[in-house]
Amino acid sequence: MTPHTDSVEAQPVNLLGLSRQEMEHFFVELGEKKFRAPQVMKWIHQEGVTDFQQMSNLSKALRERLEKVAEVRAPDIAYEGVSRDGTRKWVVEAEGGSLIEMVLIPADNGRRTLCVSSQVGCSLDCSFCSTGKQGFARNLTAAEIIGQVWIATHSGATYEDGRKPVTNVVMMGMGEPLMNFRPVVSAMKLMLDDNAYGISKRRVTLSTSGLVPKIDQLGDEIDVSLAISLHAPNDELRNELVPLNRKYNIETLLDACRRYLDKCPDARMLTVEYTLMAGVNDQQHHATQLAERLRGIPCKINLIPFNPFPGSGYEKPSRNQVMRFQHWLFELGHKAPVRVTRGDDIDAACGQLVGRVKDKTRRQQRYIQTLSIDAS
Ligand code: SAH
Ligand code: SF4
Repeated sequence: MTPHTDSVEAQPVNLLGLSRQEMEHFFVELGEKKFRAPQVMKWIHQEGVTDFQQMSNLSKALRERLEKVAEVRAPDIAYEGVSRDGTRKWVVEAEGGSLIEMVLIPADNGRRTLCVSSQVGCSLDCSFCSTGKQGFARNLTAAEIIGQVWIATHSGATYEDGRKPVTNVVMMGMGEPLMNFRPVVSAMKLMLDDNAYGISKRRVTLSTSGLVPKIDQLGDEIDVSLAISLHAPNDELRNELVPLNRKYNIETLLDACRRYLDKCPDARMLTVEYTLMAGVNDQQHHATQLAERLRGIPCKINLIPFNPFPGSGYEKPSRNQVMRFQHWLFELGHKAPVRVTRGDDIDAACGQLVGRVKDKTRRQQRYIQTLSIDAS
């Protein structure tokens, strides 16, 4: 992060992705006072300013210095669309041309939840996930992760309710956030920081398929809300759906969740994601076993009807079956809201975001065109 070197022309540091601590370090290295960090963070994240010359509480000399050694660079927007139900979706071009998606989902209670990606693709290959089917391309940088919140906040959309454009964030887009630990933590720190987005800990949720050692590490560094992708009540079935289960089985994962909840009192309640696939994990004995497994853990089960994609080999259960599953859980003492699919007309299903996006330009063009037609 040293801003200049003697011999080689150094790359400018992208200040967008620096957490408060990292930004303070940057200014100290520059021979400046630490209080420059919150000043610049407010300009970037709260005012949406990327041009140092507009940062009027910095001296002219500092602004000029910053222009030489730093930059504020958000990812480019390749496509932006609004669905009939108010869901907004962006396709964002990360460095090197990879495309990622993000979705801002409004709810009736005034929440606007942004679903954020952490990787291009994913290496964990869950059998029902279209991101997994694409394989892994690369980790996103902290700037590319927080850049998604920056874009949604400063997109120019206005809301009558006086609340922030983004009230909640879920790390449930492309990728496994705990496989890209450091940048994800830096970006989440910015989500919580009062000099940046000031979102409360309970409204920032990290979803993981169960990387146990990293759940422990997460609890040591930050106390956001935790969601786990369980999807099966026994190891035999989960081994099939979530291959990571062969390394960290259900009991090991639930133990890590218990430790996390103990460590992070603000997280309070675990979210258990359960994608319902017809005939696979949606029968009464699955509900019974699931309720049994989760006994004693403060949690909310989120039922997600499977979101079909070509060649997946799975089917979405009927509405009635979803209701029955919910009822069985309710009888066993578990509240289990069904996640409503939003933004269907712009293909904005969170969790299987870019099944159709690939790094090949021609396909990208076709994809973006399709979206424009769908969203019109
Ligand atoms: N990698 C992380 C976060 C991204 S996926 C994780 O697995 O938790 C966000 C959620 O969407 C996960 O619960 C995931 O299992 C779920 N999901 C993935 N593909 C899906 C599909 N086709 N239909 C419904 N939910 C899906
Ligand atoms: Fe990766 Fe999550 Fe998809 Fe599994 S469900 S392949 S961990 S993105």
